[in-house]
Parts: sequence; structure tokens; C-alpha cells
Amino acid sequence: MDKQAIIQAEADYVLHTYNRPEIVFTHGKGMFLYDSDGNEYLDFTSGIAVTALGHSDPDWVTAVSQQATQLTHVSNLFHTAPQAQLAQKLVENSFADKVFFCNSGAEANEAALKFARKVGKTHHDGKTKIVAFTGGFHGRTMGSLSATYKSQYRDPFAPLVPGITFAPFNNLSAAQEAITEDTCAVIVEPIQGEGGVNPATPEFLHGLHAACHAHKALLIFDEVQCGLGRTGTLWAYQQFGVLPNIMTLAKPLAGGLPIGATLVTQAVANVIKPGDHGSTFAAGPLVCAAANVVFDKVKQPNFLQTVQENGAYLKHRLQTLELEQIVEVRGHGLLVGITINQPAAPIMTAARDKGVLILTAGEDVLRLAPALIVNREEIDTAVSAIAACLEENI
Ligand code: PLP
Repeated sequence: MDKQAIIQAEADYVLHTYNRPEIVFTHGKGMFLYDSDGNEYLDFTSGIAVTALGHSDPDWVTAVSQQATQLTHVSNLFHTAPQAQLAQKLVENSFADKVFFCNSGAEANEAALKFARKVGKTHHDGKTKIVAFTGGFHGRTMGSLSATYKSQYRDPFAPLVPGITFAPFNNLSAAQEAITEDTCAVIVEPIQGEGGVNPATPEFLHGLHAACHAHKALLIFDEVQCGLGRTGTLWAYQQFGVLPNIMTLAKPLAGGLPIGATLVTQAVANVIKPGDHGSTFAAGPLVCAAANVVFDKVKQPNFLQTVQENGAYLKHRLQTLELEQIVEVRGHGLLVGITINQPAAPIMTAARDKGVLILTAGEDVLRLAPALIVNREEIDTAVSAIAACLEENI
């Protein structure tokens, strides 16, 4: 199929939920993507914070290829080694005691909300209320969508799951008012991704933890976008020194294959029984073989140290550009948001035309989420392209 035929077939047959540029990607290597016209792109999107090891990491390719020849799927009716190994790694390297596997971020949050409701029903007089936050994004399934703030995503599908209210993000006193004895859980991204790369303040997360503790509510951290090394620590919560009761993961965990995980403490695990929740595809041998490679690489202290250093370098480069178009540069590690004094989408398009792929997060925020293997030279290239686009688009 040639490029135009592909684009036409998509227009004819794929439900129009995404607006795509007229580019057909054919392959990727490390930090670079290549299209059907032979153009090379420096990828500062990593498939929206997914391909943590870059494209076609050799160890990842070997693990997936070998596993594919051995065993791909048996369902969760049976034991398989890669899943057991991954679960052990996640638990032994986090606050958690048990993990539930699924296939996406939305599903991981769906599970978190269900588990929290069951804890409330089992131990706390049937309480079911959930507090979420302005600017939060937790996914598109009915439960996760109900905890997602943007009305544009929510309103067409109302009525949504009842019992979820929104408090202002980073406003502790308002959150303290919203969290009551009827609250079974509070769900929050330690660093909001889609909402504009907004880090929570440490005081806010510490305050949420205390309020949850006081009202016997569970604290759920959605680390789907900010977890697993992206901030320069294995988990984003380590940047803040606050432990959740439940944490959700997805995007980078299998380096490009679909996976989600809901990590829980033993107290949460105790209320969940066989048959309460499940998934046919979740954490099959193929995806877990991939995830084991990603996890083993990302958790290395020198890998995380490099993410921290390169993240600081990226932020410093952007902060010292001294362009009047840049209002603020923020984020942790390699999740960086740049608020600009103009719409972000045209700058994203202009950068793409210069061969650099970046993301937006809201109207006026450029979002950078390169693979965690990015190097300084690649950072310099991306920063120069963004600066040139901002200067040209005055
Ligand atoms: N939670 C956060 C913080 C996200 O950024 C996303 C996706 O962008 C999701 C949940 C939903 O993940 P998925 O698209 O895998 O369902």
C-alpha cells in the first residue's frame, strides 16, 4: 500500500477519533522514527510516554522475538513465568504488596476505583465517594472518564459513574474540605500529564495523605504517565516522599506493548477475591517478557541518574533560551511542559516540519516526553528546533 492509499483507507474505514498528520511511519530506531517518504524524525513524544527504551531496543526485540516463538497467550486461567517475574519485580521495588494486571492506563484506574469501592463497602459502612482533581486525566472508560476533569471528554457520554467529585488541584484546603468520612478514595496524578505537565506540590500530596488517613480513605496515585523512571526516580511518588495505597501504571511498562498494572497494599488486596475482577489478555507471556526487559533496565541506579541529569539539562536549556514566548518551563525528569504565550498546536506542527516530534498538553503548553535513553546532543537538537519555531511564529 502506498502512502496515499493508506491515508485513504484510514479515512474510509477507521473511526475518526484522531486527527492525524499526513505521515505514515514505517520504522523506528532508538530516538528516531522514519516515514514512508524516507524522512527522519527526532521523537520527543515516545508514543506519548510509552517507548521508554526508544524504538527497537535490541534487548527488547530479542526478548519479544524469543517469547513469541515460545508462548504468546494462555489467558489468566493459567500460570506463566514472565508474569510471575514481573509481579515480583514491581512489588519488591515499590510500596506495594500485590499487583493486578490489565492492558491500559484506563483499565488500571478502573481497577483502582473498583478496589477502593470494595474496601469502602467491606470495611467502612459501604462508603463509595471518590475525590478527583481539576485538570486530571485518568482515561476514557466510564469509570476512569468519570474521574477525568475535562468536560469535552465527559459531557458527550453522560450520565457517568456517580459519586465522583472534583476538587481544585494543588489547593490543599479545598481538598481537605472535599475529603470527608464518606470518601473511600482520592485519585491524583503526582504530575498531571495531559492536564498541562503540572506537578503537585509536596505539601499538597502530604496533605492529601494526611486527610485520607484521617478519614480512612485510600490514596490512589495515577503514575500511568509519570511513573517508571520518567521523573528520574523509579516512581514519581519518590520525588515527593508520600506513599499511596494504590498506584496505577501503564504506558512505558512494556516499552510499546499494551499493559496496565494496579499496585496495591496488602490491606487492599485482602478484600479482593477470585472473580472480583479480571482480564483475558492481561499480562500474557509476550507482553511480560517485554516488560521484564524494560523494568530491569529502567530500575538501574545509573539509568535513573542519567534520566535525572538529562532532564535537568533539558529544563536548563529551555529556561535559559530567554525567549519572550516562553512563559514557564516545568516538570520533573524527562516530562517537561513549556507554557507559551500563544497556541501550542502550530508550534508542534512547525517542529514536526523541522523533523522534531513533540506533544502538546492543553491549549498553550508544549509537552516533551522523549524516550528515557535520550542523549544531550538529541536534547540540543530538539531545543534548537523548538526555539526556532517559537522565534519564527511570533
Ligand atoms: N492516566 C494518565 C495519567 C494518562 O496520562 C493516561 C493517558 O494518557 C491514562 C491514564 C489513560 O491511559 P490509556 O490511554 O492507556 O488508557
